[in-house]
Amino acid sequence: MARRKFLMGNWKMYKTVGEALAFATAISESKTPLPESIDYAVAAPFTALYALRSALPENVLLGAQNAYFEQEGAFTGEVSARMLADVGVKYVIVGHSERRHVFDESDEWIRKKVHAVVQAGMLPVLCVGEDLRQRELNHTLRVCERQTLSGLAELTPEQVASSVIAYEPVWAIGSGQTPSPDDAEGVIRSIRHVVEQEKGSVAANSIRILYGGSVKPGNIAGFMQQVNIDGSLVGGASLDPASFVDLAVATAGAAQ
Ligand code: PEP
Repeated sequence: MARRKFLMGNWKMYKTVGEALAFATAISESKTPLPESIDYAVAAPFTALYALRSALPENVLLGAQNAYFEQEGAFTGEVSARMLADVGVKYVIVGHSERRHVFDESDEWIRKKVHAVVQAGMLPVLCVGEDLRQRELNHTLRVCERQTLSGLAELTPEQVASSVIAYEPVWAIGSGQTPSPDDAEGVIRSIRHVVEQEKGSVAANSIRILYGGSVKPGNIAGFMQQVNIDGSLVGGASLDPASFVDLAVATAGAAQ
């Protein structure tokens, strides 16, 4: 079965509750509706999740940007996967480069978080990608392989099949720089191959692998035309509702 394209916004630490609701209203009332041929989610800050649940259009699913792996307990400041599921979250970003590099999250933590998200009945969006030094050393594929294998280690092939990976080169996030679509396609093809070797061909053919890093309405089509790129994880350009709609229209157009 063909994989449906998936557009996911990552709002990072932006938007108050009021601003998040204004976004939901704007895309609900947009003169250009979101094309139905693709899937959508927005990963909002924790504080906006509850309010957004009933404000987003039905076809835009609720996402979170992080989750802690313990269910509950004395973990001041953390939010568990179970708590996120309870407010209606469907997708949780795990191992975003800002978590790995600003907050020093290890592969081991990320693996536990992916597992906790799945155990709580949600779908993980596992982020992988090389930094600039690793790219210059030609280590891109080995970094992505290590992060992919470690992140998915505790999942069954069936659980992997419905998961999402986002290939996000660290140097491309928020920088305005991107790999070429061909380059991103090559890395994503090799990530899919790694999934196949470890979890089998059904999982590899079903898992959606996104590209993320400085995606804009003007450059998204080139990525979406690639056979192995199943959508995009978008930060800055997903904050503005008109830009989100433009990304959606361009994705749907490229997928035809
Ligand atoms: C991201 O936050 O995952 C991201 C890709 O950011 P940006 O689109 O702003 O580069």
